[in-house]
Amino acid sequence: MGKLIGIDLGTTNSCIAVLENGSATVIPTRQGHRTLPSVVAFTDDGKEIVGVTAQRQAVTNPHRTIYGIKRLIGRKANEPELEKWKACVAYDITAAPNGDAWVSTRDGDYSPSEISAIVLQEIKAIAEDYLGEPVTEAVVTVPAYFNDNQRQATKDAGAIAGLNIKHILNEPTAAALGYGVDKSTDQTLAIFDLGGGTFDITIMKASQGVYEVLATHGDTFLGGNDFDQALIEHVVAHFKREHQVDLYADPVAVQRLKEAAETAKKELSTTTSTSINLPFITTGPAGPLHMRHDAIDRVTLEQLTHELVQRLEPPCRQVLRDAGLTTDDLDQVLLVGGMTRMPAVRRKVEEIFGKISAKDVNPDEIVAIGAATQCGIMSGDLTDVVLLDVTPHSLGVRVKDERMSFVISKNTTIPTSEKKLFATTRDNQDHVVIQVHQGENELVWHNVSLGQFTLGDLPKLPAGKVNVEVTFLLDADGVLHVTAREIQTGKEASVKITPSSGLSKDHVQRLAAERSAKIDASA
Ligand code: ADP
Ligand code: MG
Repeated sequence: MGKLIGIDLGTTNSCIAVLENGSATVIPTRQGHRTLPSVVAFTDDGKEIVGVTAQRQAVTNPHRTIYGIKRLIGRKANEPELEKWKACVAYDITAAPNGDAWVSTRDGDYSPSEISAIVLQEIKAIAEDYLGEPVTEAVVTVPAYFNDNQRQATKDAGAIAGLNIKHILNEPTAAALGYGVDKSTDQTLAIFDLGGGTFDITIMKASQGVYEVLATHGDTFLGGNDFDQALIEHVVAHFKREHQVDLYADPVAVQRLKEAAETAKKELSTTTSTSINLPFITTGPAGPLHMRHDAIDRVTLEQLTHELVQRLEPPCRQVLRDAGLTTDDLDQVLLVGGMTRMPAVRRKVEEIFGKISAKDVNPDEIVAIGAATQCGIMSGDLTDVVLLDVTPHSLGVRVKDERMSFVISKNTTIPTSEKKLFATTRDNQDHVVIQVHQGENELVWHNVSLGQFTLGDLPKLPAGKVNVEVTFLLDADGVLHVTAREIQTGKEASVKITPSSGLSKDHVQRLAAERSAKIDASA
């Protein structure tokens, strides 16, 4: 077996790490950077490019430059949540035949798993160059709130890229592992992760090498992009007042402005004032126009993003309530994600929790470092560390009136097993259909459907007289096995619930073969 690598496959940036001589090390990219932008572009000469090079040509190739693909994983194209994202990106988001959100370019239609696979393939190549040996297996991190279908889509991305994903690790758990709590102590941690697109907050207990998640919460549409957008709107409005020209009508101008706004935002984390100067930003009735925005100070950025920073608070309060803790119970708050470098965000964290991590944590790398640590646990190179993870969403079955009857509630430590008794609702009912759903809503159709099966040949009796015991067994890998047993006769039916990315197994295999043929041809 070759070396197992740890991958933080981020919405905005990815990071790769590997265990070397007992400690986790970040693998630099070809350009010598410690993170790789999760950006893929299709070029005129039929090439696929990834990372910084893809990012750099976005201005001249906006419709074929794909970023933020993680936001589409496991989503339907018509979900209201996606509307905001569709308005932000220049590439086309379309519905696949099954309704899934895919990406359409003139090069073809791509599922999110395929685009992620292109990023993973680059990661695999970077790691192989660095290690000087083939890399075929990895531990990949995902947001804690990802449902089973989204986790499967991530595994499919690995399969298409020729990487066997041996384990899917929750990002906050990875961060805690990467932080490395001293084994001789008991600590309660909050992991505060604000990235490019999402916000996650997790409470975790580390006790003598055992990491246990107590609760997790967040906002899937709150991140650095929104901060950039607030600054862009400010600058666009200013430009309109000055020149009576709407920059939003010019996609190239918008793309240039996006980059400039993000750069300015980052600079304002360390300096108190910066500028946005973009010569020839667009053409007005009287010829070329230039953007000169000389003094954007930190205070202005903080005013523009005040609402966004405020939105960080309720999920933090909620997760503490879910964990049954107060801020006094916390020993550390780990700051994860590039956005935690913004001073206003740090101040908000201190205001909510009264503390932040004392130890120097690199917010861009800690998740990948944790993934590499998990590789060490799995390969047996690291001992004395045990991970106890939880299920991020409740699991249940559909009952009368489309209601959800919860069997396993969210934040339960896995592996776990729960039983629940149900009764028939009609006279002489000869079968029951067990429909398994994942989610928190009282009505099943708001939740994610994971699968169904039938238990037939029930004794013909009046409604309510036939009892069926349903058992949910969730194993340590998060795989769900559901059994239904009629109490009187002992007749049983069961299934292993196989989550689906929306791609069939054959389809994934075909894409993997195509990709590997492509590499052989270009080698
Ligand atoms: P993800 O988890 O989404 O892949 P990251 O954790 O890499 O994302 O965070 C990316 C976000 O962090 C981007 O919005 C980026 O602009 C922001 N960011 C990075 N460095 C800084 C900084 N110094 N100050 C403010 N924001 C930053
Ligand atoms: Mg991240």
